[in-house]
Amino acid sequence: MPELPEVETIVEQLKKRILGKNVVKVEVLDSIVDKPISKLTPFRIKNIYRRAKTLVFELDNGRYLFVHLRMTGHFHYLTAQQVASDKEKLVKVHRFLAAKFYFEDDGLLTYNDIRRFGFVKLFDKKQLEKELAKLGPEPLSEEFTLKMFIEMLSKKKNSVIKTLLMDQHFLAGLGNIYAQEVLYLAGIMPLRRTGTLSLEEIKELHRHIKELLELAIKHKGSTVDNYAHVDGSGNFQNYLVVYGRDKCPKGHVLKKIEIGGRGTSYCSECQK
Ligand SMILES: [Zn+2]
Repeated sequence: MPELPEVETIVEQLKKRILGKNVVKVEVLDSIVDKPISKLTPFRIKNIYRRAKTLVFELDNGRYLFVHLRMTGHFHYLTAQQVASDKEKLVKVHRFLAAKFYFEDDGLLTYNDIRRFGFVKLFDKKQLEKELAKLGPEPLSEEFTLKMFIEMLSKKKNSVIKTLLMDQHFLAGLGNIYAQEVLYLAGIMPLRRTGTLSLEEIKELHRHIKELLELAIKHKGSTVDNYAHVDGSGNFQNYLVVYGRDKCPKGHVLKKIEIGGRGTSYCSECQK
């Protein structure tokens, strides 16, 4: 599932292509996309941004598209020229197409989703604010200081640290991959209870969350499973130190366990 760096990458790339452009027609082909979106045209894409692992499209009519890609949701953009010459490729993905957005300049944005866990919802401002208010702070925001992190953790002393890091109501944007990575980098066992963390460990964790996410964004995210951003794929998977690995960077054999139903790798030598 795309996490913060992957969704951030997709947002940046979509902005380059469709920000400020007019949508003249929308075809909704699957119930994972709210049907009434097709009745809104024409509208302009006023803004696109990320919150946690979701994408928000702000339209010029006061409405919002709230998009969660989940496992296999994917946007594909074709310029007018590509639409004219790339018919075969479109047919190939057609089986999983959930929506098509036609632009005034003849460009085309498609949303496809093989496993159909993703969605595109149509929200008004109130609905959007209600949804976003459920989410924890953004780890890359200035608001997310060490002081804030310490306070957040002090209210969740009995939680398992890995599970807590992945909880979007606690902190926005980390999933199974980056939670494992930051815990390795900070030298913390994934099963530790939050209340047992020392101040030094919390400091390390806070620092690595910010550094790792920033680095992953630079590399346009990690390409694992089916993730592909609009231009192709990121390469941060080459830099992951525990996810999908057998050994840690120091050569110790990693242990694999399940925490909350999710496969988790850790090093019993490097993580305490
Ligand atoms: Zn190790």
